[in-house]
Amino acid sequence: MNTEYRMLIDGELCEASTKETAEVVNPANGAIVGHAPKCGAEDVARAAEAAHRAAPGWAETSPTERAALFFRMAELLRRHRREWARLETMQYGGPIFKTLNFDMVFDAEHFEFMAGVARAVTGRTLPVGPQAISMTLRQPLGVVGLITPWNFPLVTAISKITPALMMGNTAVVKPASTAPLTVLKLGELAVEAGFPPGVLNIVSGPGSTAGEAIVRHPHVAKINFTGDSETGKRILALAAAAVKPVACELGGKNAFIVMPDADMKATVEGAVWGGFFNSGQNCGASSRYLVHDSVYDAFAEQFVAAAKRLRVGDPLDPSTMIGPVAYKGHRDGIERFVERAKRSGLKLLLGGERPDTPETRDGYFVAPTIFGDCDPKSEIMQEEVFGPVVALARFRTPEEAVEIANDSRFGLCASIWTRDIRQGLVMTKQLQVGTVWLNQHLSIVFECPWGGCKESGHSKENSIMVLDEYSMMKNVWIDLAGTPATPWRGEFD
Ligand code: NDP
Repeated sequence: MNTEYRMLIDGELCEASTKETAEVVNPANGAIVGHAPKCGAEDVARAAEAAHRAAPGWAETSPTERAALFFRMAELLRRHRREWARLETMQYGGPIFKTLNFDMVFDAEHFEFMAGVARAVTGRTLPVGPQAISMTLRQPLGVVGLITPWNFPLVTAISKITPALMMGNTAVVKPASTAPLTVLKLGELAVEAGFPPGVLNIVSGPGSTAGEAIVRHPHVAKINFTGDSETGKRILALAAAAVKPVACELGGKNAFIVMPDADMKATVEGAVWGGFFNSGQNCGASSRYLVHDSVYDAFAEQFVAAAKRLRVGDPLDPSTMIGPVAYKGHRDGIERFVERAKRSGLKLLLGGERPDTPETRDGYFVAPTIFGDCDPKSEIMQEEVFGPVVALARFRTPEEAVEIANDSRFGLCASIWTRDIRQGLVMTKQLQVGTVWLNQHLSIVFECPWGGCKESGHSKENSIMVLDEYSMMKNVWIDLAGTPATPWRGEFD
């Protein structure tokens, strides 16, 4: 298997001009999966210039032409889905049941979804009276910089690339350094599909150099970033110098609220999925469980029993539900959270130790871990752990549940588990988050908008609302009166 990956700049697959590369390590066993170019500001500048040159021509292509290329990409992704799912699993540890059945399906369908949307983009006409017609033209921004994280490497990149290109922008994309390989391979598919040179450029390199070079480059009109809230603040500050807009999808500390009348079986199933899918490495993961006092003990007991049954092991085994976390430094950070929670006297209901089996011994695994009866102000209830570590707290009234849920610097999503939909909707209106699920957690589909508030960011991914992130509205006024109509005219008559 080829282990040397290439960037895509101006239609050419290339190495970094410095010839430097970075190893990508399989977190399941420490083996090297591949080498990615490690580029700096020079290559980013080449990519931004290529994107800038390509922008006017691409903006003039018809929606049908763009859609045809998108359908071709979807077809190629489906053809290679097994090989790509394996690579995704090996570079960041997501279990193969997920990368094959969820990620690769989403990736191909997202190109198809946006190919359809391409032919339904509209502007507006505005009621300004009988003397004129006013309308808005939805236009591309030019070159957009797309910076993405490692937890859903290809899915996140495709969620940004498809609306960006479909709206007539060109792009410079930078995936996370720990898991850049599938996004780099997307460059090979773009060449095969026939995208014009410069329309899609993919570079790899450290955030502190390559990432910041994208943010600073004068040809880049907007940044769309998904990642850590602290990185988001740094990018916002850098971009402010040029009044450059930044769309941000950042961290979360999401509440899972169990009301006294919840269907306990479904709730426990949802709790295990919400907390432990992708080893909890989801911005939308349910990491704070707020449980009504009257059902707390029953819920805690059944939740722990269900989480115990999750199979932790080799992520390439289709029966594995929990793979390793993405890299050693991340595992170490999660373990430090767990140690501090233990030392502070929190009640450990499950896990808290490294799993120790022949399958997990050489990798960066964290056992599903549950802390009970937590103080809502404690670190484990406030900070994003981004691993399979969750915390439970009690509440007594719906008002108290909402108050605890809103007592967070994040505002991404929440779920409410109840048979009383009226009560659920009252609480939904009060929650300070971008998405609320009733009797569901982690249903993220491209038909529905996704994005938060507070330190979780302020933009939207997915759905047709995403078009606002990748276009500008130009207002056009057409005078019908045929005579100048200025406000002071009457005073001089
Ligand atoms: P990071 O913020 O560390 O990295 C994200 C991307 O930003 C990477 O490509 C990284 O490059 C790059 N980067 C880092 N520093 C800079 C910089 N100074 N300037 C420009 N780019 C930079 O996040 P993680 O990869 O660790 O991802 C996990 C985080 O992402 C979690 O907080 C999670 O909640 C959030 N997330 C949010 C989602 C949402 O929809 N709200 C969805 C998915 C994840 P490099 O890898 O080289 O450092």
